[in-house]
Amino acid sequence: MRLVVDLNRCQGYAQCAFLAPDVFAMHGDESLLYNPEADEEQRENVARAVAACPVGAILVEYDGEDGPRTHPGGAR
Ligand code: SF4
Repeated sequence: MRLVVDLNRCQGYAQCAFLAPDVFAMHGDESLLYNPEADEEQRENVARAVAACPVGAILVEYDGEDGPRTHPGGAR
């Protein structure tokens, strides 16, 4: 899957790094590092991170689907 974090929106709350530590990591106090091409096996963790991000900064595009969306199962 591919993912993008809108770093202008990201407030460094680190929920994503807590829920999907293999994909997201905090670097220093506020900057977020992430793997933009996370493994499919991270799908559940990433979905939790997307749902938990208080500012909706994480956009995910799952393989086999077209177009990014912010919430799995949600409206596009
Ligand atoms: S949960 Fe959202 S606001 Fe917090 S670090 Fe992750 S992307 Fe940024």
